[in-house]
Amino acid sequence: MRTNKKFTVKRKKKKYKGVGRFVFICVIIVALAAGGFVVAKHLGRDTYDSEGSFEGYAKDYFSTVKADNATGDSVEEFKYGEPNSVATDMPKLSSKAVTKKLTDFVNSEKSAFESNYGGSAKDSKNGFFAGYQSYKSDKNTMGVAMYTTVKQENKDGNMDLVSEKVKAVNFNAENGGEILPIMAFENGYKEKITKILTDKVKEEYGDDLKSKYKSYIANDSDFTEKMVFTEKGAKVYFDAGSILDLSKGAIVVDLSNDDLDGILRDKINPRNIDPNKPMVAITFDDGPGPKTSDQIIDSLEKYNAVATYFELGQNVANVKDADKILKRKMAIGCEIASHSWSHPNLFTLSDAQIKVENDKTDAAIKKITGFVPTLYRPPYGNGNEKTDKIFNKSGILWSVDTLDWKSRNKDAIFKVIKSQKTLDGRVVLLHSIHQPSADSMELILPWLKEQGYQTVTVSELLAYKYGEDPSVPKFYGYNYFYGEDSKKDK
Ligand code: ZN
Repeated sequence: MRTNKKFTVKRKKKKYKGVGRFVFICVIIVALAAGGFVVAKHLGRDTYDSEGSFEGYAKDYFSTVKADNATGDSVEEFKYGEPNSVATDMPKLSSKAVTKKLTDFVNSEKSAFESNYGGSAKDSKNGFFAGYQSYKSDKNTMGVAMYTTVKQENKDGNMDLVSEKVKAVNFNAENGGEILPIMAFENGYKEKITKILTDKVKEEYGDDLKSKYKSYIANDSDFTEKMVFTEKGAKVYFDAGSILDLSKGAIVVDLSNDDLDGILRDKINPRNIDPNKPMVAITFDDGPGPKTSDQIIDSLEKYNAVATYFELGQNVANVKDADKILKRKMAIGCEIASHSWSHPNLFTLSDAQIKVENDKTDAAIKKITGFVPTLYRPPYGNGNEKTDKIFNKSGILWSVDTLDWKSRNKDAIFKVIKSQKTLDGRVVLLHSIHQPSADSMELILPWLKEQGYQTVTVSELLAYKYGEDPSVPKFYGYNYFYGEDSKKDK
């Protein structure tokens, strides 16, 4: 929203032509602000009563909220009115998506303020304020906590707090890509954070807590929207009136790096995936293959690319040097997933037999990688919600079938890839055990790069492209991975 231009101050970036006149106006503004402020202070009141004193009052608010200011420059806007005044201080960020998220939040709160107080009496006084604090973490992220505050004048002439809300956004310090929960947290983080926060606030605020504070914390499903990562750990924000009395305002709870041990990933988005750029997930089934594995990994490494491997349990257990192969894949950021133990048609098996296919593969993979995979691909694509349940994993099919097992020809494989209208959001099926499939990487990977695609793992694709949490079992069938189109269908 554009406001009275005179009061739009853009920090550190502006050329003034009539410097003398400008300085004169400044002096007037400062005098007005200081004057108004002094008067307000003299009367011992927390309020404002003119354009100038409102600006001073708002600046005071901005600086109270502000901390660390890792994001640098900001844009302040002031719009004094009777009865309603608005002041905002917004960070200048390079990421359009993050800027939009913060602006949308502030605008929606501002609209609510304007509609709530639009019909107020002329002699009443209502103020809307937006300010922020921003932090840098030691994990290549930046975070902004955006505050919106509504105040209303009471009988004694002081501004009372009506509401105070906070929305947090964390993003990649390098490319501005938003950090989604799945990229920041380890599996099972929700329960752990809930417990730590519940204990912390009990310790800090004791009997001042509202009776329902536990369920409030437990129901806060998306913690990254209320949390900013810092160098020391994280700050968690609670809206005014959520767990404490409204008059206490929004509150911040600090979590240390020790608190976050086992919750926050050691590295957040280490490959700097940009959620705003096109991305494709290459998947390899039926491995690890004894002959082709290293060649494929070499190609991936050469082009700084990754793939998701749906490995057969019996190969993981029996192929020579499978442990070294899997570890190499993980070292370059690839994802290891399950493709069952012996490649049966799961639809012909009993539940107990399916469970054996899963459990033996999990054990073989865990022995090497130290963890149980969160994804599986049913052989022949024959899976559903029922097999998901037994595997206790998300079932992943594909949306680009290269037919590599059939053509056994690297040019034919490449042609299938190139003939797609778009690869953004798609999952490409290949088989790591065939030589031509391995050879096709030297054609496909440089071409993808040239076309501006990032290669991502299936879990990354689900998180970044589709906003899903891959660790929650769900069946992703043939119709799923079609980028923006499938997103709209949901
Ligand atoms: Zn297969």
